[in-house]
Amino acid sequence: MFSVRAGGGDVRVVYSPLDAVALAEKNPDKQVVFFAIGFETTAPPNVMSVLQAQRLGLKNFSILVSHVRVPPAVNTILGSPSNRVQGFLLAGHVCAIMGYWEYPPLAEKFRTPMAVTGFEPLDIVQGILKAVQLLEEGRVEVSNAYPRAVTLEGLKPAQAAIQRVFMECDHKWRGIGMIPMSGWRLRPEFDEFNAEKRFDVGSVRAEESPLCIAGEILQGLKKPHHCPAFGKECTPERPLGATMVSSEGACAAYYKYKG
Ligand code: SF4
Repeated sequence: MFSVRAGGGDVRVVYSPLDAVALAEKNPDKQVVFFAIGFETTAPPNVMSVLQAQRLGLKNFSILVSHVRVPPAVNTILGSPSNRVQGFLLAGHVCAIMGYWEYPPLAEKFRTPMAVTGFEPLDIVQGILKAVQLLEEGRVEVSNAYPRAVTLEGLKPAQAAIQRVFMECDHKWRGIGMIPMSGWRLRPEFDEFNAEKRFDVGSVRAEESPLCIAGEILQGLKKPHHCPAFGKECTPERPLGATMVSSEGACAAYYKYKG
């Protein structure tokens, strides 16, 4: 972001997608593009920004969508011949929106227990405990270790808003490759808010660093310190791969706590 700004680009940080809509409303002579990225957690506010822009009749607001869905990724990781994952902690923030009804069939299919887990330190310990208990008892099921925020069904109004604005699509995951139906994109009826169409940038794709082994780390095959770029070419300030970008990424956590 800073390098784009240094080059003269007008890049701003907002606290909510609706703040980007407000910016477009206040600046009718400028085109405002919001980077709508993330897992299922960030999808509801992102689709609400589109619905709000539509309601306001804005012609200068669009979103650049790069959304991913967890269940197809779990299916791909567990279905890989080289898979070493024996249990899953399911991210509580994702399940708070989507529920966890999609996971019992995956747990059954791959004979792998899963625990819905929150993000506070005690939540994580609780999720690990649940997963280990299920493994030791040989039980293949999905346990909800985060019941204060997550229900089986999830937030139905949020899911309905997502379904109204987004549709499922194939998505390329950094380090893993294409996973069928693992992403979301805007439905054609919202094309006027699709930055890829408005600016014709749909064919632009980021190149992955040949040094990065994030795909193997995500699949449990290697640890971050096995990467030759770890802490050298790749740091949280200058990340080369997805797992170094946010603080909960495996490489970023290893960098912070293992040095
Ligand atoms: S340390 Fe950086 S380059 Fe290496 S695997 Fe992690 S994200 Fe990729």
